[in-house]
Amino acid sequence: MKTIAGFDRIGEENAFAVLARAGELAAEGRDIINLGIGQPDFPTPPHIVEAAIRALRDGHHGYTPATGILPLREAVAADLHRRFGAEVNPGNVMIVPGGKVTMFAAILMFGAPGTEILYPDPGFPIYRSMIEFTGATPVPVPIREEMGFAFSAEETLALITPATRLIILNSPANPCGGVTPRAEVDRLVAGLAEHPEIAILSDEIYDQMLYDGEEHVTLLDYPEIRDRLILLNGWSKTYAMTGWRLGYSVWPDALYDKIRKLAVNAWSCVNAPSQYAALAALTGPQDAVGAMVAEFDNRRRLVVDGLNALPGVSCITPKGAFYAFPNVRQTGWKAKKLASALLEEAGVATIGGPDFGILGEGYIRLSYANSAENIARALERMEAYLTRTG
Ligand code: PLP
Repeated sequence: MKTIAGFDRIGEENAFAVLARAGELAAEGRDIINLGIGQPDFPTPPHIVEAAIRALRDGHHGYTPATGILPLREAVAADLHRRFGAEVNPGNVMIVPGGKVTMFAAILMFGAPGTEILYPDPGFPIYRSMIEFTGATPVPVPIREEMGFAFSAEETLALITPATRLIILNSPANPCGGVTPRAEVDRLVAGLAEHPEIAILSDEIYDQMLYDGEEHVTLLDYPEIRDRLILLNGWSKTYAMTGWRLGYSVWPDALYDKIRKLAVNAWSCVNAPSQYAALAALTGPQDAVGAMVAEFDNRRRLVVDGLNALPGVSCITPKGAFYAFPNVRQTGWKAKKLASALLEEAGVATIGGPDFGILGEGYIRLSYANSAENIARALERMEAYLTRTG
């Protein structure tokens, strides 16, 4: 059977393969510490779970509007206003089944053979995979350790050609934990004034996972690009809801009906109880979010200090998300080989940097969404392994 060519080019997220392999090893009786997968190790706060159960008991088990229930779209707009002072019309908010769905839809809208899409490298692997699926040319924007893993406006703008249709931004970022400062975003937006035909997808899914007093710079702050900005966000990370499959996006007027129709064709709507849970998440108490971020902050220090004490490893302090991206060049290992050896021989799951792009060579990603105790054990194992093999 011959499918369209895109399916020969589509990639995936190696974090899921590592999760599966870690599961297999654990099933064989091995003690595996998983610092591979990017999901909070906290349970969804109980009041959110209760809201979903209540919704089912109250009979919310049918289709909802394809765009999402109105109270939830209103709550998203109110939340963006509360946190950033942003004016968002609930009529531009789309409730989708996961953050990934927004990137899938946006890349599908702008990707085609002969067009170019700029995306961060190292970056979330699905950006490149989806770009290649559409036949568009993926144009990596280098994310450099020397810049604290923030993107560079100058380098981004220099990569624009007449074929560029979409620019993907991500801050706070996966996999490097970089946070782009406001001055850099200002420069980028100013430069984009000369390219009014280019759309922008801003992936802000880690917008509440910030440390050391960093502020989140949302692209919603720039009225001059609102007519071409797609904002990606959701509940997966902030409210520990990765398995609920929930996300939201803000779309400009010109694209809203297109995403609505895509929803009608592809997924109809997000399951109703999840939407009521999402509503409770935004309108209920926020202390669980703060407590989780405070705990990530503690672990961040632990992981960075521990990594910097390992032979051949150096790690800058990430300012956001829940990942560390240590430089492992001085160990003499190729990054993916090291990640694989650490899993198979030391029982520590991490992800090789090249799984996030060409510029990921020389790095591995550790998620510190695991207990402080497990992080300390993982670092001990890594030290023993690197010392033994070094
Ligand atoms: N964007 C980034 C940068 C991510 O790291 C992730 C998940 O790891 C997503 C989007 C997807 O989130 P979701 O699980 O809601 O689809």
